[in-house]
Amino acid sequence: SKPILEVKNLQVSFKMYVGEVKAVRGVSFTLNKGEVLAIVGESGCGKSVTAQTLMRLIPTPPSFIKSGSILFDGKHEITKLSEGQMEKIRGAEMGMIFQDPMTSLNPTMTVGSQITEGIIKHQGMSRKEALVRAAEILALVGMSNPEERLHQYPHELSGGMRQRVMIAIALACNPKLLIADEPTTALDVTIQAQIIDLLRQIQKKTETSIILITHDLGVVAEIAQRIIVMYAGKVVEQGSLDEIFYNPKHPYTWGLLRSVPRLDSNRHDELVPIPGTPPDLFAPPTGCAFAARCPYAMQICKEQDPEHFIVSETQSAACWLLHEDAPKVERPIEVGG
Ligand code: SF4
Ligand code: MG
Repeated sequence: SKPILEVKNLQVSFKMYVGEVKAVRGVSFTLNKGEVLAIVGESGCGKSVTAQTLMRLIPTPPSFIKSGSILFDGKHEITKLSEGQMEKIRGAEMGMIFQDPMTSLNPTMTVGSQITEGIIKHQGMSRKEALVRAAEILALVGMSNPEERLHQYPHELSGGMRQRVMIAIALACNPKLLIADEPTTALDVTIQAQIIDLLRQIQKKTETSIILITHDLGVVAEIAQRIIVMYAGKVVEQGSLDEIFYNPKHPYTWGLLRSVPRLDSNRHDELVPIPGTPPDLFAPPTGCAFAARCPYAMQICKEQDPEHFIVSETQSAACWLLHEDAPKVERPIEVGG
């Protein structure tokens, strides 16, 4: 079947006082129908900007799409749609879940009004019909007493319940694509696990395609089928869940796997942070952007941007170590894996 989303050479920049900051520097990927794709990387790697650009939400400071293509559902070129056309797609065919439900929910509107807003607008239901549908969705996202919840305000709910309401709003019109940007980061660990479990169940029931943006590889292991690793505005590695967890090829992926706790591991004491900080995207370095932090950097890394070397049908990595003439390097021993 056709992919639900095809992103080709997407470049997004911020206009800043100092000049142009290149936040997304040529990102390409495909999302298949019914698939859960995780985009991972440290903060500032461009993953949130990529996600927001897919829905044509404008991150602050103001960004602009420099080039590239975002083909949604085989027919909508997102980069070229008018704001009016975009509004019809947003909330109806694409839903988004943000990190912090408190800032994304309207504190002055009841849960019921917020869920029915999109249904009434996009599906032309009456308010009464929409409220029935809203109660069904609240039940789907695991809220007890859904009819009563419809009349409550966000501040009357716990953090976990507010996130469930956010998910209900995003799902209200049966979107084909759900984008979740750090959906569990603001929640405590037990609630995190419940929300991930919920997203997994919903994905199974509704066959919605999901893009999950996160810095947390523990969350990724629980739900994603495929992973994209971003660094300094570029995709540095992509592969299936197993390929990225058990056969990663990029030194940055190695570093991420050693620096991030996994839900199934209690060995937080053995986590090793990646030394150094990502480069300034106002003036990105020549060559591999990870070179300054990479223990394996060679002369060529500082001179030429690595191409994407094919590892398997589903895996590729942008690292000179994969060149046939490169020295053979052993991946450091995995901790806790
Ligand atoms: Fe390290 Fe070079 Fe690979 Fe970049 S291309 S990750 S600097 S070895
Ligand atoms: Mg972010």
